[in-house]
Order: sequence, then C-alpha cells, then structure tokens
Amino acid sequence: QYRGLNELREMYLSFFETKGHLRLPSFSLIPQNDPSLLLINSGMAPMKPYFTGEQEPPRHRVTTCQKCIRTGDIENVGKTARHGTFFEMLGNFSFGDYFKREAIHWSWEFLTSPDWVGIDPDRLYPSIYVDDDEAFEIWNKEIGIAPERIFRFGKEDNFWEHGSGPCGPCSEIYYDRGPEFGCGKPGCTVGCDCDRYMEVWNNVFSQFDNDGNGNYTELKQKNIDTGMGLERLACVVQGVGSLFDVDTVRNITNKVSEIAGKHYGESDKTDISLRVITDHIRSTVMMICDGVIPSNEGRGYVLRRLLRRAVRHGKLLGIDKPFMSDVASTVIKESGGAYPELVEKQKYIHKVIENEEASFNKTIDSGLAILNDKIAASDGKELSAADAFQLYDTYGFPIDLTLEVLEEHGMTTSREEFDRLMNEQRERAREDRKKMGDLGWQSEDLGLDKSIKTAFDGYDTLEESAKIL
Ligand code: ATP
Ligand code: MG
Ligand code: MG
Ligand code: MG
Repeated sequence: QYRGLNELREMYLSFFETKGHLRLPSFSLIPQNDPSLLLINSGMAPMKPYFTGEQEPPRHRVTTCQKCIRTGDIENVGKTARHGTFFEMLGNFSFGDYFKREAIHWSWEFLTSPDWVGIDPDRLYPSIYVDDDEAFEIWNKEIGIAPERIFRFGKEDNFWEHGSGPCGPCSEIYYDRGPEFGCGKPGCTVGCDCDRYMEVWNNVFSQFDNDGNGNYTELKQKNIDTGMGLERLACVVQGVGSLFDVDTVRNITNKVSEIAGKHYGESDKTDISLRVITDHIRSTVMMICDGVIPSNEGRGYVLRRLLRRAVRHGKLLGIDKPFMSDVASTVIKESGGAYPELVEKQKYIHKVIENEEASFNKTIDSGLAILNDKIAASDGKELSAADAFQLYDTYGFPIDLTLEVLEEHGMTTSREEFDRLMNEQRERAREDRKKMGDLGWQSEDLGLDKSIKTAFDGYDTLEESAKIL
C-alpha cells in the first residue's frame, strides 16, 4: 500500500507509543554539551547522557524522529540510491528497560505486519554480530527466519561503539530491492556495497561498557538504540528507485528541474546535479533553522560548503539567477508539518540563503574579472599555474571555471603544477587540523582532503575541485 513519507513518520512514532514509548520531538542538529560532535548524526547522539545514566530520561522508553546530518556521506550523494547528507532517523530507545527480544520482535512487527507497514518478509534479511547467538536464536526460533537468511558480520559492521562507554553488538535489517538494482558482480549479497540490499534498520544492543582499553564488562543497565532512515523506509514502501524519488523529496527535485528547465532522468550528469541540489538544500534549510550561520569554520563552514556546492551545481545545470531560496520554499512546504519551526523561521531562512548565494555569486564575478585581466596580460597561450592557484586560493574561484574560461580563449594552464600547489596547501591545512583535534577531522570528512585527479575530465571532477572557502 502506498504511503507518503510524512505518513510513515507518524506511523512509526505511534507504533512505538502503543509499545509504551514517550514520543519526543527531534533534538536540534546542534549538539548540546558534546564537543566530540559537530552535528547530530543519529537518533541516539543527543541522548548519550540517558544511555550512560548521567541523566535521568523522562521515561525509560522513548521514540523520536531525529534530523541528522552526515557530511561523511557527501561523496555518495546523488550517486548511490540511499545516501543523503541530510536524513531523518526514526528510533526507539530503551534506557535500562526492554532489551533484544522486544527490540527485534517490534521492528519485525512494524515492518511486516499488515496492520502496519506490511513489507513482504521474503525480501527482508537480518544481520547479526558474528558471536551473537542470542540474537540468532530470536531471529531463527522466535521470528522464524531460516538460518541461511541470517547474516553474521564482524566487528566493523555489526558492533557499535564510539570510543569508550556503552557499546554492543547490533542487528541490521536489509531489504532486497531486486537484481535490477544490483552490481551484478559474483557474490553480490547482503552486505554488498551496491544498492540492491539496502540497509533499512539498525538495532543496537548496548550491553557492554568499554573502559577505553578494549576491556568489556557487562553493563548493569542494558539499553536499546535503534535507527531507521525514514527516507529509506519510504523508498522501500513506495517502491521507487532512490531516496530522491520518495514523494516529498521528489517534489524538491521537481522544483529544481523546473527552475533549470532540465528533465530528471535524461542524463546521469544532470541527474546527479539535481540530486545534489535537492539533498544540500534540505540539509542547509534544516541547519539554518537550527541556528547555524555560514562561516569559515566548524558547523558554519559545513553549511557554507553545502550551500555553495549546491549553487555550483545549479550553474552546471545552466541556472543563471539566484534560485536556492525558491527551492527552500518547497523544503519548508514539504517538511513544515513535521517541523513547525521551519514555518516560524521561514523569513530568516530565506534571508540567510539569499545572502550566502549572493556572496558566492560575487566571488565568481570578481574572480572572472581578475581572470580576464590576467588573460589580457598573458601571451595568449598559457596562464601560469600560480595565477590559477591564486584565483582559487585567494578568491575562491573554482579551478574548473578557470579551465573553462581559458579554453574559450584557446588557452591552457598546467594542471600538474596546479595540483602540486593544491596538495601543498592541503598538507598545511591537514597540519592545522591536527592541532584542532576531533573537530578538525569533521572538516576532512567533507572530502576537501581527497587527493585530486590529475587529469581534467570536465565536470566529473567538479566536486573535487570546487574550492569553497
Ligand atoms: P550504510 O551502511 O547504508 O551507509 P550505516 O550503517 O552507515 O548505513 P547506521 O549508522 O547504522 O547507517 O544508521 C542507521 C540507519 O540510518 C541506517 O540503517 C539507514 O537506514 C539510515 N542512514 C544511514 N546513513 C544514511 C544516509 N546517509 N542517508 C539516509 N539514510 C541513512
Ligand atoms: Mg554509512
Ligand atoms: Mg551499514
Ligand atoms: Mg548500520
């Protein structure tokens, strides 16, 4: 049965209310009292103090739909069917209350019961931590899943831990979307990185305490922490090709296509840009709403990077006027019911986006003027790599634009030399980040440190070369 994303969110939260959970609104994307995290990236993150017992939760069973940002997934956005930098994570939590049995039974009931989502159970596959025979017994004996349909994975995939503190094995639920979504490689099965077997839900059984030296002791308080991507659930229920084809998200993509005058589904290159813009406008609207302001460091830098990357993709689509604020209206329309703060702050959100887009456009305009001067003063054949790098480094002018303009004048620049200068600069930045500790690594997640390709192959390397600062 068809169900919209907004309906599925409500179904999930009310399902867990029938199981005695207290429904809480999403926490802000800005972590409170947690210097280890730049932005909230999971449902459990803002509830850490309840898991450690540091704070008493309002109830021992809680359910939320949490706004999440994962900048680490930025390179996947628009390319895989299942990753966004922004997504909503549905979660049910037990703080020293119920444990494995209930968590597994309820996740199965919600997904497969005809009274709830009613997914075909033959398409679902659980995974468990390699040693977790208790979870195996529950899936096999109680739920009735055949042993060969239960996948055992190692620590990397199925043991959740974050430094020291509460941790434990987890059990994920995968959905087989069918061979048409597979990579076709031999051995492609649950756990393959392609888009066929999509992980929809992760149930974490936090039952151990890690003292920080790898010594595990059983916790007195056993906790449950689960997370299911709302967009992924909707993708499965709606039977669509990717997160970007889910009803509310697709409305945003359609808005961008309309502005760009480009049809979705016509070419891969265009589609990737449409999806990148769709994703980034969602994350930026949500971040601005929660109080992040564009800047050159920390969260503000993440916001700036995402906004400008979206504008840049707009240019690739041939959009030659400010458009982000217009697209933001669609985001607010689609999500304003679930997040009323979006409606309350809409004027402010539009203002921030308009300012940032204008300042980026100004960067591009002044960069173009400088480049044209340099071209006029050149030998008409080559621009020095040092000049190209200065445009990039000092004025934030993207290298691919420089190359494009040079080409129009029948000119070139040494890409090898440019890359060398760029790598030198990255080394310096890496050193600086080391000094910043944990927070520094967050900006590395943005892909700024990826060693760039040496050959210029048109727009494909755009993301890697777009300099945003
Ligand atoms: P994947 O292996 O597919 O990248 P994950 O194991 O990193 O997912 P978890 O950290 O277990 O994901 O998060 C819990 C759930 O949140 C996932 O099962 C998935 O449904 C959803 N999720 C995770 N990352 C994303 C993302 N980038 N975009 C949309 N949904 C996501
Ligand atoms: Mg992941
Ligand atoms: Mg995974
Ligand atoms: Mg997972």
